[in-house]
Amino acid sequence: MLRGLFLFKTPIPLKALLLLIMLVLKFGGTSVGDAKAIAQVAQIIAETKEQDPNTVVVTSAMRGVTNILIAAAHAAADGDEQPYRDARSELLLKHQIVAGQLIEDGVERAAYGRMIDDRLRSFERLCHSIHVLGELTVRGLDVVSGLGERMAAPLLAAVLRANGVEAEWVDAAEIIVTDDAFGRAAPLLEQTCARSNDRLRSLLEQGKTPIVTGFVGATENGVATTLGRGGSDYSAAILASCLNADEVQIWTDVDGVLTADPRIVPEAHTLSQLSYAEAAELAYFGAKVLHPKTILPAVEASVPIRIANTFNPQGPTTLVLPDTAQNGSVKAISAIKRLSLINVEGKGMIGVPGIAARTFKAVAEADANVLMISQSSSEQSICFAIPEEDTPGVIASLEDELELELARHYIDRIRAMHDIVIIAIVGAGMRGTPGIAARVFNALGKAQINVIALAQGSSEVNISLIVAEKDADEAVRQIHASFFSPRT
Ligand code: ASP
Ligand code: MG
Repeated sequence: MLRGLFLFKTPIPLKALLLLIMLVLKFGGTSVGDAKAIAQVAQIIAETKEQDPNTVVVTSAMRGVTNILIAAAHAAADGDEQPYRDARSELLLKHQIVAGQLIEDGVERAAYGRMIDDRLRSFERLCHSIHVLGELTVRGLDVVSGLGERMAAPLLAAVLRANGVEAEWVDAAEIIVTDDAFGRAAPLLEQTCARSNDRLRSLLEQGKTPIVTGFVGATENGVATTLGRGGSDYSAAILASCLNADEVQIWTDVDGVLTADPRIVPEAHTLSQLSYAEAAELAYFGAKVLHPKTILPAVEASVPIRIANTFNPQGPTTLVLPDTAQNGSVKAISAIKRLSLINVEGKGMIGVPGIAARTFKAVAEADANVLMISQSSSEQSICFAIPEEDTPGVIASLEDELELELARHYIDRIRAMHDIVIIAIVGAGMRGTPGIAARVFNALGKAQINVIALAQGSSEVNISLIVAEKDADEAVRQIHASFFSPRT
């Protein structure tokens, strides 16, 4: 079923392996979402391995599986046993359909069938105990939520073998050693690097491609942990750093990072290169890229990160590289929606120290994330953007904290403006390049789009502005056109 596979019949001499480049390929949930996608992934791995035998693979759970596992465990704790019973049969079927379609060998297929049956039985037992106790600990949840990867990695390895590619799955609990911050564990790099080099290099020397479970790890004592939601990227970056890889490839369902959302700007195109700082800035501003925390190990080890599309493997990709001098100016334009803008205003704020500190203390107490802050130098108002759903809590918290100032009219009012959008214009080359802001405002002015607030970080990697939701798409299109058009 895979086309043009190169079969590794002859073992690769050790010396050759040492000289070859090392790649870590990570496939996300959508990339292993169903049989068709997994067949495609197997082909990508086979072709990569043909070029670069030193290839290590990290896989996520099949799309949706982690959510199903977590929801079932929570329901069990709340007294409802039906969801985990349903989940067991649903997940069995989901994985067996793929095995049935892609693993021809009856013995292999039966072995996988037994393994997943075992896993799901233990899932059922776990959920039963959670139900009996009526309590779900973070530690218990890590055992449950990590099962998805432990079903996906053996499946992918078996599919590869069914296609003549030597592969063996590896439970990351054996190689990624973490602290015991369950639900968001951090790797202990020294032990992790020692173990992963041992285990993965020895598999590679035998000509076997390791298929490692993303997202999971274990403490030094072997207690199961997870690295946090979306943690498979983190797993890949950790292994890439330990193996001193030449590149880590994040295979997803988009053609790398685009200059803008193509649903808003049809002529948006893939950026061939991006710096780590730009990628971090774009991630912060809601573009579908890498989460800065999860790529940190790769950044610290200066491993380049390529973002590629499983469903368009010949298509364009983005290479994220160390922050060297950037030329060009604006790289991408991103919009974050569903926000509100909170304004704390009052003439009595002028020259009074501590208002800003107390304002943000109140916001933190309401557990809200501030995406942008702006204060004019007249100090008559501070405004900041937060997620729409946090608005009532933040307002209440501010009114509480600033009660006295409100009573004395030092602060005239605290108000929320709804339906606003942050537009972030990102590019490290904007640093020290004059005229960028002028160009942005010119484009918006011509289109008669009102800018409500704006901020530029002193890193100058991004300019952020706030516009009304109704103007947002047009604003992105106008700014995009002013920096990227006409383009051939
Ligand atoms: N399966 C995990 C999650 O859904 C990890 C990942 O997909 O990266 O969060
Ligand atoms: Mg994911």
